[in-house]
Amino acid sequence: MSLFDQPPGESVSVLLPSGAPGPFDYANGGHDLKRGDIVAVPLGRREVLGVVWGSGTGEVAPERLKAVSERFEVPSLPPVLTDFVDWMAGYVIAPKGAVLSLCLRGGDALVPPRTKTLYRRGALEPVRTTPQRQRSLQAAADGMARAPAEFAELAGVGVSAVKGLIEAGALEPIEVPVYGAPPCPEPDYARVTLSEAQRTAADAMIASLGTFSATLLDGVTGSGKTETYFEAVAAVVREGGQVLILLPEIALTVQFMERFEARFGCRPTEWHSDVKSTDRSRAWRQVALGDARVVVGARSALFLPYPDLRLIIADEEHDAAYKQEDGVIYNARDMAVMRARMGHCPVVLASATPSLESWANAEQGRYRHLTLPARFGPAVLPTIELVDLRRDKPPSQRFLSPALEGAIEETIARKEQALLFLNRRGYAPLNICQSCGHRIACPNCSAWLVEHRFRAKLACHHCGFERPKPRECEKCHAVNAIASSGPGVERIAEEVMQLWPEARVAIASSDVLHGPKQTQEALERMAEGGIDILIGTQIVAKGHNFPNLTLVGVVDADLGLSGGDPRARERTFQLLHQVAGRAGRHAKPGRALLQTHQPEDRLMQAIAAGDRDRFLKLEATDRERLGFPPYGRFAALILSSADEAAIEAYADALARAAPRAEGATVWGPAPALMARLRGRTRLRFLVKTTRNFRIQDFVREWIAACPPPNKVRLAVDVDPQSFI
Ligand code: ADP
Ligand code: ZN
Repeated sequence: MSLFDQPPGESVSVLLPSGAPGPFDYANGGHDLKRGDIVAVPLGRREVLGVVWGSGTGEVAPERLKAVSERFEVPSLPPVLTDFVDWMAGYVIAPKGAVLSLCLRGGDALVPPRTKTLYRRGALEPVRTTPQRQRSLQAAADGMARAPAEFAELAGVGVSAVKGLIEAGALEPIEVPVYGAPPCPEPDYARVTLSEAQRTAADAMIASLGTFSATLLDGVTGSGKTETYFEAVAAVVREGGQVLILLPEIALTVQFMERFEARFGCRPTEWHSDVKSTDRSRAWRQVALGDARVVVGARSALFLPYPDLRLIIADEEHDAAYKQEDGVIYNARDMAVMRARMGHCPVVLASATPSLESWANAEQGRYRHLTLPARFGPAVLPTIELVDLRRDKPPSQRFLSPALEGAIEETIARKEQALLFLNRRGYAPLNICQSCGHRIACPNCSAWLVEHRFRAKLACHHCGFERPKPRECEKCHAVNAIASSGPGVERIAEEVMQLWPEARVAIASSDVLHGPKQTQEALERMAEGGIDILIGTQIVAKGHNFPNLTLVGVVDADLGLSGGDPRARERTFQLLHQVAGRAGRHAKPGRALLQTHQPEDRLMQAIAAGDRDRFLKLEATDRERLGFPPYGRFAALILSSADEAAIEAYADALARAAPRAEGATVWGPAPALMARLRGRTRLRFLVKTTRNFRIQDFVREWIAACPPPNKVRLAVDVDPQSFI
């Protein structure tokens, strides 16, 4: 059939990877097209990328349809992925195209040429031979395919001699893929002997392959969760399937890649936003072809076009970094569970401090619960002690209590290492005028400026605004009255260096360490014993093994507890547990001291007693009483605008338009967590519903009744992280 006489039924709908509405109808342009095919289509005067989503809707008259211009020679997106996009767009209330764009981040993977031409010895003998030609033919005698320049180099001749042989047919062209297959992990490369508990857990995971199930792999830090799920990875690789291992942060991948290589003999395919674009293109293609067998990546790795995904692992499943907060707002851990369900494969959520959601699912039998109760080998869990800052006060303008100071002293005297944890970058979180009480704030955000003494700047951690620290108060003009208030890691380092001038001290925070590589180097220096006292933010909390680290001091265990948000309590518990768990990972026993003003709080009590489940039970009871997740559901609507009047008017209109439904309550508008951010005002509505309420339908109906005006941006956050 020619291009010009297609019957009307030959149109297709094409979804474009953008936030625009769609899909749109196109004529098939003579291509044989099915759902998932990646195509180029005209849009206005441009050619854009799109994915065939189904047959045409018939909404556009056939004679007015534009035609698909090209079908890319790459594997189509697998049906499970296109179905997943449809489902996820509905769940997170985002345009389908915006979700689709997450699947098409392979860059040049789609762009021809996807093969390159190489040459090898052909059947014909050249009519005319020269010494150069002869040498080239000798080089080709091994039958290997090479580029002309490679032959020339090998034979020590000019490229023109090689070209002559090609013209004569003595070297024949073959097309080879630009990207070859990556090495395949070897399941038995370096097997370990599992402990009995590990073996039981590994066997259960292996037995679960082949159908959907969700498993919580719940083991204390150092219990060997990674070694254990590696056995399930090995089982899938042995059978030729694909595995996805999700990690919450890019910083964790560096060490993980090495660990994987030590176990499986080669690196897995890496996927996250820091991977170079050529490597991304290659990885995308290798995944699409099924050649990449194990992918290790951050949340975006969930959207790769796996044709044969048979196992998903989400390590550190409780980690807040699984939540994508910009653009399409989603929690990759939750999406991974659904992706596994749709792909009929198991998902394993691993953590020492599971999220309350996953823990409750395991308690109620919806998830399989596998536990590894003890550290592997001789290592034991550290003892955790609370330091009551009300009684054991640090000296004025200092932040280490006598108890913590004494413990550090003993530790370094034994030539062991100490880690001081404070989740605050910079020198001081607040700068206050001593004479009038004025606090220096960011002009663009509702945030105080943080002092960074090494850089001699006051900085906003939200928008990046910076200024020098003023000599004079801008309010009362008092001179030299601006005082630093409270500690950041730089200030703790200053205190430590005054107390132990001989000690080797280092800071680990994102201001000092730029990128995963530098972070890795610093942490390796710590692991090798090149640092006596490490002072770090949350980047030291997870994933790293320091054999000689026996003391962890938490400078301010109460940080993060002030707002009264139940989720903040859960996060604090996880973080403190994780940080304390850095101590004593090897033969020497560890100790953790937590400085707190509220040692009687049940969170502190549970941490000190090592009774995680008691804490989770009590928190769960509270959540249930309040109808908070996982016993109820939330969705947040976040409005933002640079125009105060426009946002106020829209918030009023939205408040009036809120649907009424039994089981749903609307709170707001209230100032959002950051009421001003980058110069924009932010307001938030919160919808709270009962557990089985169709919260997405409610929100969609609401927005449809009252869509945002141009000047106001509206973002929907289903299952928001914070509850207040
Ligand atoms: P987790 O992921 O639970 O924190 P890991 O898997 O990192 O624990 O294990 C902690 C340490 O113990 C690692 O150094 C790991 O190699 C080692 N380990 C765990 N299980 C075994 C085993 N069965 N044989 C040998 N070493 C093990
Ligand atoms: Zn700011």
